[in-house]
Amino acid sequence: IPVDPFDLVIFGGTGDLAQRKIVPALFRRYCAGQWPNATRIIGAARAGLTTDAFRDMVSDSLRKHAPKRSKDPEAVKGFLQRVEYVALDALSEDGWAQLAKTLRTERVRAFYFSVGPRLFGPLAERIRAHDLANAQTRIVVEKPFGHDLESARALNATLAAHFDEGQIYRIDHYLGKETVQNLMAVRFGNMLFEPLWNSQYVDHIQITVAETVGIDGREEYYERAGAMRDMMQNHLMQLLCLIAMEPPAKFDPDAVRDEKLKVIRALDPVEPHHIVRGQFAGGANGRGYREVAGNPRSTTESYVALRAHVSNWRWAGTPFYLRTGKELVARSSVINVMFKDAPHSIFGEEAGRHANALSIRLQPNEGITLTVTIKEPGQGGMRLVDVPLDMSFAEALGPESQDPPDAYERLVMDVIRGNQTLFMRGDEVEAAWAWTDPIIAGWQARGDVPKPYENGSTGPGDAELLMKRDHRRWQGIN
Ligand code: NAD
Repeated sequence: IPVDPFDLVIFGGTGDLAQRKIVPALFRRYCAGQWPNATRIIGAARAGLTTDAFRDMVSDSLRKHAPKRSKDPEAVKGFLQRVEYVALDALSEDGWAQLAKTLRTERVRAFYFSVGPRLFGPLAERIRAHDLANAQTRIVVEKPFGHDLESARALNATLAAHFDEGQIYRIDHYLGKETVQNLMAVRFGNMLFEPLWNSQYVDHIQITVAETVGIDGREEYYERAGAMRDMMQNHLMQLLCLIAMEPPAKFDPDAVRDEKLKVIRALDPVEPHHIVRGQFAGGANGRGYREVAGNPRSTTESYVALRAHVSNWRWAGTPFYLRTGKELVARSSVINVMFKDAPHSIFGEEAGRHANALSIRLQPNEGITLTVTIKEPGQGGMRLVDVPLDMSFAEALGPESQDPPDAYERLVMDVIRGNQTLFMRGDEVEAAWAWTDPIIAGWQARGDVPKPYENGSTGPGDAELLMKRDHRRWQGIN
């Protein structure tokens, strides 16, 4: 469905995020015919570029990051005609009068803050001072949304001084993934799952976000952040919320976010012996963290695994195991809902114990798989085997379902439409920090040193023990 015409200003338009993610996403939506003609994208950054030079930069980025569609010269030309550039400094008056002239009135005006958080305040102030906001103004901000509870509160207060909460879109791109939205459709659109979605039937839940990349190019930021702040506090926490939340009365922004907030607030503090921190140590597959970070004594974790508890009626007694790390054996983001064993096996001991699992895979190969137990074909006797009950979306929905829109495509268009459902509200972010802060403070107080793990492995051995102690094991990373 085409959206209303809009002006989208990308502050930091020459930066990595803008060129790698935002602009290619906008281009793909343009190719999909989702834009009205009167729309414009305005790159705004410090570099003294002309609009033509900026268009050249965009054109290069499209070739790299939207290779398929950028082969159509007409599409690229049409898109570039709608791209402009204003050189501007967030910290001075330079360029702002020009930006004011470039904006048209009476349409959606979105301002994407694709810059570091220290510029959020100055940008918000100048947007107001130059009267650039209109009735349909939206502000888009990216992680890191604060470094701890105090800084997150300060950032929220800075934005709140200039904009209403209803105008602020805090992006967590995990929420833009097709499968994450599908998770809500599966949970709340079917009768089948929700009656089983509780501690009576679910043994435990695993959320894994494994990365093969390291910290190259982000050393300075990462040294101060670590896996807990960089991934756990936001992406994994958001996934946990969607798995654990109660059904909202409606699929509307505040109904959904109210339920997510309740989950975060129901989280118990994590016991120190329920957390494993790790740091990649090098090996045959690359350099160790400390060498890359240039800090031989760094105690920043590049891996964290923990056991969390959502203390409410639905989930009491069902552990949530969360883990994320860098330089691991494979890139894989997956949620596994592990159901309990059948209470009694009528097939005897040799048939083994079997349990159902629902796997929600975010990357690679987004999709949902339900594992069920069936008879092993052809064998004498009754041997059981676990197989995926194949829900082939491709067959049912056609090939388009195999090429879902990138998370940023969905999210940027939601900004334009004014739909905040898939964006984090300020109180959610603060509640997540309130849960995270004591964990980090505990490490600091104890002088905790992360456990080394080999690059290209599945993480530190202690993470396996975390599961073993509970007579469970991690599903494979692949
Ligand atoms: P970057 O360093 O590549 O780009 C920064 C941009 O900000 C540049 O366009 C620069 O010109 C502009 N800028 C800096 N100071 C300015 C000023 N005073 N006035 C106007 N413009 C100014 O950074 P990035 O990687 O694109 O990241 C931007 C933000 O998004 C950061 O906060 C980052 O943490 C966050 N983020 C980035 C990614 C990513 O994949 N790159 C992912 C998630 C979040």
